[in-house]
Amino acid sequence: MNDKQAKLCQEKLAEALQEIEKSLSKSEAAAEAVSPDKSLGRLSRVEAMQDQQLILEVRRRHKKRKLEIINAMSRLEQDKFGKCSFCGADISEERLDVFPEVETCIRCA
Ligand SMILES: [Zn+2]
Repeated sequence: MNDKQAKLCQEKLAEALQEIEKSLSKSEAAAEAVSPDKSLGRLSRVEAMQDQQLILEVRRRHKKRKLEIINAMSRLEQDKFGKCSFCGADISEERLDVFPEVETCIRCA
């Protein structure tokens, strides 16, 4: 991977990180517990809790991806980026293009 590619990946990672931060802060209020004093009927209360579960699940995935992106950024700084962390092979550009935060090549994934 040359400097230009590395820079491009860094930009992509920074962008993805921003997106995730944005979505995390947006869903923060919605992820808070369904408050018991809300005058919801029994059914809509169940629905509200299901919605909340969904939001929590999305937030869980986003937080995981955020960590992966941060890891990828530090690998980029240490010049370890683009190499499979299991077998050491180069990760294909196509793969990095779609998932710049991946740590493994397609065979080890
Ligand atoms: Zn590998």
